[in-house]
Formats: sequence, structure tokens, C-alpha cells
Amino acid sequence: MKYAWLIFAILLVFLISAKIQAQTAKDFADGWEKQHISNILPSNVRHRDLQKYLEQLKKLGLKVEEVGRSYASREIYQIEFGKGATKNFLWSQMHGDEPTATSALIDMFAYLQNNRDKDWVKQLEKTLTIRAVPMLNPDGAEFYQRYNLQSVDINRDARALQTPEAQLLKRLREDWSPNIGFNLHNQQSLTTVGNSTNQAAISFLVVTGENQNTEGNERNKRLSAVMISALQNFIGGNIGRYVDDYNPRAFGDKFSDWGTPVILVETGALYGKDEMFLVKMNFVAFLSAFKSLVDGSEKTANPSVYETVPFNSSGRIYDVIFRRANVVNISEPSVITTSDVAVNTQRHRAAFIAPTYVRSIGDLSAYRGLEEFDASNFYIAPRYGFVRVGSSGEFMFYKKTRQIDWKAADLEKTFPPDAIFSLGRWVKGEELLPKTK
Ligand SMILES: [Zn+2]
Repeated sequence: MKYAWLIFAILLVFLISAKIQAQTAKDFADGWEKQHISNILPSNVRHRDLQKYLEQLKKLGLKVEEVGRSYASREIYQIEFGKGATKNFLWSQMHGDEPTATSALIDMFAYLQNNRDKDWVKQLEKTLTIRAVPMLNPDGAEFYQRYNLQSVDINRDARALQTPEAQLLKRLREDWSPNIGFNLHNQQSLTTVGNSTNQAAISFLVVTGENQNTEGNERNKRLSAVMISALQNFIGGNIGRYVDDYNPRAFGDKFSDWGTPVILVETGALYGKDEMFLVKMNFVAFLSAFKSLVDGSEKTANPSVYETVPFNSSGRIYDVIFRRANVVNISEPSVITTSDVAVNTQRHRAAFIAPTYVRSIGDLSAYRGLEEFDASNFYIAPRYGFVRVGSSGEFMFYKKTRQIDWKAADLEKTFPPDAIFSLGRWVKGEELLPKTK
């Protein structure tokens, strides 16, 4: 009986210490799984969906206010949490078709508010203030386009200030003078890490502005190192460093020049993972950064963790490669060439289906397709026009054993193909062409 009490006491001490122990990246990821409130794939989120999310945050007790209007007079909002001296400012979706971080911000504020009883969140409220503008470009988000409604790139309008959204962003910084800025974007899904063919699921850049080695920039390198270390638990080989030169028209650089050193976060894509996974990665990164500011671990983070991350690269991978296809050129069907054919899909909302385009033909053995099919036993013929770079990636596949009159009128009807690839997927004969990996 005596021992039972001892065991109980030890267990109690263990539980208490576990409770106040620092949150790990894995805890944040688990927390997101259980508590995230965003429930629409980010690319499908419209302004009215954002408003619904914000209503939920208000109900939780968070401070949400309209801070301005877009060119088409859509409301732009700011969320706030904490009362501390260190001021953090985040903004997302200044490019309308770059939505991931908007959902992550919503989930982050909900999580902080719902975990105010946790010691580290209590400490955060005392030491930090976090403000965020989710969806700075609601008009662009509505049309799922990069630009605002004036067709101006808000991120190149920091100097000219011809858009209401850029004017607002500048004013929000001037009125508050935040210590740290987070500029949240999406990069191309086929961005890769260094010399590898690994997709860059997320990339970071400490935006130094005109002055390279300020303490703010050094701190941002350490903060980036914290975020990278946290994400290495999940996507080790898929983290890149964003490549960018100083641009006096861009907000990241201007913010840094104006006294708010900025970290640029660019979410990419990861084959086999959906958009919500990337929301979770953003969530983990942001909370890990803020937690490190609260518990002081940011001070001892190693900036070389950031500095040694390989730079982004591009042009090394494609969405789909058909290997060793027997390409039929309809205008000269007697000449059949054996080539790899690579196609890419355009950026699009998850709810929409996007066309694919032929991006390369030839010996593509140096490149990787996110999906690859062995087409060596098939003819590949265009559904429309020709199989050539720039044309649409709409293909008919015929077994090589078949006799086809390629000049036949309405080929698809006269000689029904064995497989059809359309709008980035198989609409007939799926699994007929073996995957090469
Ligand atoms: Zn962008």
C-alpha cells in the first residue's frame, strides 16, 4: 500500500512536469489535428468563407476587426492575440491564388485562444502581441488570381502605392511598428530543393532589405532555424531557401528597410499530401517560432540551420512523364518517334479541373515526374492538334499491336483508343500503362 502511494506520487510529478514541458513540433501537429477549425481546402476558400472563419474566432473571444477595404470594397480584417511588448505582424494571400497560410492563421489563433490555460500560452500573452491580416487581397482571392482587381501585383506596389491593399499594408505597419514581420505566400508546386528532385513543400527567406547584418535579420535567421528544425520532423528533405534579390518595390524588402525585418514563408506542394497537410506545416512553423520567442530558445537557435538549407531550384520535375512513348505526329504518321513526354498542370482551385500542357518532349531521363507511366508499348496520339511543346496534354493511347489508320477522320471514334488521358487524369484505361515507380 505504501508503494502504491509512492508510485502515485511519482506519476503525479511526472504528469505535472510533462504538462509544463515545452510543446514540441509533434504536439503542435497533434493539436492541429484535433483542434483545427479550417475545414475547406485553402484553394477553395472564398472571402465569404473567410468571414465565416472569422465569426468563429470572434465567438471564441478573439479580437477581429475590419481594417480596410479592397479595390472592390471587400472587407480586409486583422486578428489580434496577446498583450506583450514584442510585436509580430503576419499577412497572407497578398497574391490571391496563394491561400495556404490564410487557413493556417485562422487555425493558429483558434488554437492559441483555446489553449490559454497552458503555461506557455499564458506566457505568450504577456510577452508577445500577434496581429495578422489573413487574405490581404480578397478580390484576387475571389478570382483566384495573383493580382488585385487593378491587375497590379500588390507585392510590387510598396513604393508606388497605387492599390488600396498596398496602402493599407503600409499604414498597418506605420501605425504599429511591429518588431517582426511574416510575409506569407505560395510558390510553384514544382519548385525543388537544391540539386535534388525533391519538391520544396515550404521555403523560407530572411528578407534583409538594404542592411544585411542587423540584429533583427540575425534574429530572423534564428527564428527561421527554429521553424525549419520543427518541420524537419515531418518533411526533412522538402524544405528550401527561397531565392530573391533585393527589390525596392516589394513589401518584404521595404518592411525590412522601414524597421520591421521580414521572414518570407513560401508554401509549395508535396506529392501525395493534400493542402490541409501544408496548412498543418504552416501552423507548426508559426507556433514553433512564437513559442521560441516566449521561452527564449530562439536566442540559442543555430542560424546555420537556416543558412545551410539548399536554395530553391526549378525545371527539374514535371507533374506527369510518359516514358518511351511512341509519338504519332498526325501530319506525318509514317514517322513515329520514341520520346518521353512531360506535361504540367496549371495552378488551380482544388474544386476546379485545370488543363495540362506539354512542357517537354525527348530524352527526359535526367528529370523526374511526380507521376510516371511506361508508355513503351503504346502509341501516343493527340486528341486535338499535335503532340508538341505548348499544346494541350490531351492524349489517346493505342496498344502497339493495333493497326491504326492515323489519317482516319474522327480518329477517336473510328479507332477507339485503349486509354485516354484528359485534364491531368485517366478517363479511360486507367492502370493500363504501368507506373514506372
Ligand atoms: Zn506570392
